Amino acid sequence: MTDKKSGTIPLTDLSRHFAEVVPALKPKEAIDEANRCLYCYDAPCIKACPTGIDIPSFIQKIATGNLYGSAKTIMDANPVGASCSRVCPTSELCEGACVLNGEAASQPIMIGRLQRHATDWAITNRVSLFTAPPETEKINNKVAIIGAGPAGLSAARELACLGHEVTVYEAKPKGGGLNTYGIVSFRLPQEIPLWEVEQVESLGVQFRYGVRVGEDITAQELIDTYDSVVLAVGMSSVPMLGIPGEELDGVLDAIAFVEDTKTKPLSDALLGKTVAVIGAGNTAIDAATCSKRLGAAQVQMLYRRTDKEMTAYDFEYEFAKQDGVEFRWLVAPKRIIGENGRVIAIELTRMELGEPDHKGRKSPVPIPGSEYTIPVDYVIKAIGQKRHTQLLEAFDIAHHHGIPVLSENSYRTSHPKVFAAGDFIFGGGKTDAMVVDAAQQGKRVAHEIHAVTSKKER
Ligand code: SF4
Repeated sequence: MTDKKSGTIPLTDLSRHFAEVVPALKPKEAIDEANRCLYCYDAPCIKACPTGIDIPSFIQKIATGNLYGSAKTIMDANPVGASCSRVCPTSELCEGACVLNGEAASQPIMIGRLQRHATDWAITNRVSLFTAPPETEKINNKVAIIGAGPAGLSAARELACLGHEVTVYEAKPKGGGLNTYGIVSFRLPQEIPLWEVEQVESLGVQFRYGVRVGEDITAQELIDTYDSVVLAVGMSSVPMLGIPGEELDGVLDAIAFVEDTKTKPLSDALLGKTVAVIGAGNTAIDAATCSKRLGAAQVQMLYRRTDKEMTAYDFEYEFAKQDGVEFRWLVAPKRIIGENGRVIAIELTRMELGEPDHKGRKSPVPIPGSEYTIPVDYVIKAIGQKRHTQLLEAFDIAHHHGIPVLSENSYRTSHPKVFAAGDFIFGGGKTDAMVVDAAQQGKRVAHEIHAVTSKKER
């Protein structure tokens, strides 16, 4: 990928480096892999999938050439199953539970890639997998869903299939949320989540794009118009570092930076430049690998703890190292230094690990007098994401630091009409696991609303 002399990627290669990294299985490879499955009774892989996809069943359908049936089995259980086939940490979920792990000369079934094989077939053949119930089975219940990401889409699909009248409000111009805007193209191209949105649209769900609750429509209007409201807005922008120099040109928000690579022509601004990424979660890794693929000569990830405490998955860490990203452990930014309004360097403090915090992770402590400076052209902030606290307050919902308080074993907030799901209620940490978790929460919230409505109707 990188030119050995200059350390940069040729400009003509930028687009190529944003093409999907993991290749699709060829039809014969998929059938051969499907035929390795033991179709276990009480299969552990199903239990390990947060959405409970009937994995042996969809694999068997691939083996018998029934790709429509296979895709339907997947997407019925997980309305964002095509995206999940690419972004799920399968080695920690279904593939990690496969009985073929640990067998002599055997590997677990490539469940993720088989799932992709079946859903790719459905995407290529533009088939509709979901069916809306007939008019006679429709329920007189109007639901507004705020956010068209994995949780919102999943709730919308499930509610529409149960006969509810659903409208999804989305601030962005397209649906899909994190999958469309926040996960790098070389892992998840936009056309995959956009196809999932189409599948939900085909059920008669209305989507209102470019609408911000609190600006274009008030919380009260939603409460007055709908029987139930689901908040599935995910997380907000990256918070401030709280150090001098953040206002300088060249200091970027990792979320917006990744989004630009998915929504705008690829920029050559980073060609040959030096980039520091602050943080070591999955978004930080995405920002670092994007920087490399945009031609940065050197990308350093700066983290105040060590690789043992980082929240990014091991496979992401390995992927970043393969892309040439460098890691600097036990350092924290002290100030960003500029010249004529642009970043030219960053001052760092060395850290050491002290006592464990409330989550059991050792807390980083600055080492006095250890400051040093490195020259950089860009600083990308990836230290987590802010919460949509204002939205909670607009609905007058009880919350703890931006996390809504929910009734026990329920997705119901302190407002009797308002429910919540997805990143909005848990947030932070391992982003990719949350896509599948959010999908399952969307289904659950739909069934909770349905149960409440059914009681009301009796
Ligand atoms: Fe197939 Fe492995 Fe699941 Fe068994 S555990 S059904 S072998 S994928």
